[in-house]
Amino acid sequence: MFHHREQVAAGIWVGFTDTGAGNLASRLGGDPAEVARNRAALLAAMGVPHGSLRFMHQVHGTAVHRIGPAEAPGVPVADALVDGAGTSALAVLVADCVPILLVAERSDGSTAAAVAHAGRRGAAGGIATATVRALQAEGGEQVRAWLGPAICGACYEVPVDMQAEVEAVLPGSASTTRAGTPGLDLRAGLHRQLRTAGVDVTVVPGCTRESENLFSYRRDPATGRTAGLVWRVQP
Ligand SMILES: [Zn+2]
Repeated sequence: MFHHREQVAAGIWVGFTDTGAGNLASRLGGDPAEVARNRAALLAAMGVPHGSLRFMHQVHGTAVHRIGPAEAPGVPVADALVDGAGTSALAVLVADCVPILLVAERSDGSTAAAVAHAGRRGAAGGIATATVRALQAEGGEQVRAWLGPAICGACYEVPVDMQAEVEAVLPGSASTTRAGTPGLDLRAGLHRQLRTAGVDVTVVPGCTRESENLFSYRRDPATGRTAGLVWRVQP
C-alpha cells in the first residue's frame, strides 16, 4: 500500500503509495468502481474519514489552489493544493513526475500543509517555490518538504535543448542517462531550489521507471497513478 509513510509532527503524516494501493486516478479511462475501491481502502489505511481526501485536476501548470475554510469539496484545476488550517487530507497523483509534500509550522505550533505536482513543465515553471510562498502567506515559517519517488536522472532522457532550457531555470537538474545521453533529474533541481528557499528537504528514494512497485508512464503509457499524501490523524 505505502512505498513510504512517516509521522512528521504530532498527528501529521506524509506518505507515498505504491502499486499495491492500485490506480488512484479517475481520469485515465479505467474502471471507476475500481478507483473508488482503491481510494476507500487507502482512506481506511490512512485513518481518515470516507470522502475527506482532496484531489486536484492536474494540468502541468503552476496554479496553486488555496483551500478556503468553508469550501465545498471539489476538484480544482491546479497543480498544488494549500491548506492553511492543516486539517484536510491532500493528494497529488503521479507516474514519473515528482510528488512534493510540504508541512509548515507557525510560531504558535499550528501547521499548514500542501501538496504539489512537479513534472518537467511545472518544475521549470516554478510550482515548488509558488507553493512555498503560498504556505508562507498562510503564516507558515518552518517549511519542510518531502520529494517522493519519480523518474531518476539516469532514466529520464530528453533532447539536449530541453535539458538546457530546464537547467537554466532549475539549476542542478541536468543529468546524463545510463545510455550516456542528455537527461533530467528533476528531484535534484527541486532539492537545490527548495533548499535555496530555506526549506528543509527530505528525498524519499525510488525511481518509478525502474521499480515495478511504482507506476511509470515512461515504462507503460497505460499505467495507473500513485499518490503523495499529507494528512492529519486525530490523536
Ligand atoms: Zn531510474
